[in-house]
Amino acid sequence: MEQELQIYIDGKYYPKSQAKVSVYDHGLLYGDGVFEGIRVYDGVVFKLKEHVQRLYSSAHALLLKIPITQEEMVNTVVETIRKNKLKDSYVRLVVTRGVGDLGLDPRKCCTPTVIIIADNIKLHEGEAKVKGITTLVSWVRRNPVDGSSHEAKSLNYLNSIMAKIEANMSGADEAICLTPNGLVAEGVGENIFLVKNGKILTPPTSTGALEGITSAAVKDLAKKLGYEVTEANLTTFMLFTADELFFTGTAAEIVPIRQVNWRPIGQGAAGPITKKLMVEFRKLTRDPNQGIAVKY
Ligand code: PMP
Repeated sequence: MEQELQIYIDGKYYPKSQAKVSVYDHGLLYGDGVFEGIRVYDGVVFKLKEHVQRLYSSAHALLLKIPITQEEMVNTVVETIRKNKLKDSYVRLVVTRGVGDLGLDPRKCCTPTVIIIADNIKLHEGEAKVKGITTLVSWVRRNPVDGSSHEAKSLNYLNSIMAKIEANMSGADEAICLTPNGLVAEGVGENIFLVKNGKILTPPTSTGALEGITSAAVKDLAKKLGYEVTEANLTTFMLFTADELFFTGTAAEIVPIRQVNWRPIGQGAAGPITKKLMVEFRKLTRDPNQGIAVKY
């Protein structure tokens, strides 16, 4: 029988079937917690330090004190991957407020719960990466820029999920979320980029989008390739009339968008600039200097 995945919870490893948290955990009861999604490419944990830093920033915004240092967190993530002998995988790192009572007061939660799952994820793979995906601009608006906005990667993803349901019901592959003012924010778990007349535009994170680690890497790559990259307010009209559109994210990597609310974008396949960036991004993810190597 294949060995079960070993999941880290608060300093111990449990087989997947026995990896459980309390029903009194405020991560479950109130979505009170933070998380990260991280990829491992050929035994190198891509941008691990950046992900851990962002986790601690999100926690800081929630006044949630993670009980171990960033360095210990980095080592524990690496150890979890090593223990599971995974070379190419997806890691979910979760820190909740911990076990409390049935009231929402965080003071009742003495110790945060730390969970590390090293497993796999499949999102927009195969044909989607070649042909692009279809999208729907959802009626569900992103939260205003406050504690509940997606700037902090918290366990509150209901508005992404509502938008995703909307896309699912309408037969689109993914949803695009707008700010309360109707500007383009991001996807449900991805940042969005637009290409127009050879220039690359992306919404500023002050619209309430997450400061994506993939998007930062893609901006750097684009600049190195000689493209102008600008943070700008984007409207749905600008999406409809773009030459190219694509999403970026740890799970999605770079995925071209070929349709927005039934309007075709470009030639119905990944555009030339998107394609170039996809090639460069793939190289970057295989560069051992871009992450931390696991010693198996
Ligand atoms: N926006 C949201 C809401 C997300 O959940 C994610 C995925 N973490 C992203 C954008 C993309 O960020 P990253 O490239 O760091 O994965």
